[in-house]
Amino acid sequence: MGTDSSDNLARLYSELLVLLKQEEEVRKETEKRLAKAKTSVDPRKEFNNWLQTNAGQTWKQKQFKYQASKCAACGDSLRFTDAVVHHIRPLKDFGSAANKPENFKLLHPGCNLEIGTKIIDFS
Ligand SMILES: [Zn+2]
Repeated sequence: MGTDSSDNLARLYSELLVLLKQEEEVRKETEKRLAKAKTSVDPRKEFNNWLQTNAGQTWKQKQFKYQASKCAACGDSLRFTDAVVHHIRPLKDFGSAANKPENFKLLHPGCNLEIGTKIIDFS
């Protein structure tokens, strides 16, 4: 029981604090990188990002004309602003591979919900 051991203990505690702080920084940085990596491979986010781009909006306009302003599911008329993009092969099962314009149809929001992830033959 001397000054030596209490000095030693204090030194070890301060080393521990430094290590804990470093650990937290590494953890935060890793979590940040993980979140970013997840975003870039999340097919739903990938799709939503694409739809916001000029290419996505151009596709939607062309497809709307191609479908003659009608819902691909029920055949009733559809307003452009209401039209939602349906994935024929669902994102849930096909991931990023489902994010191809040939896999998309424009539908009423209700029709899209009703179909959900069932694979329908639209042809
Ligand atoms: Zn419909």
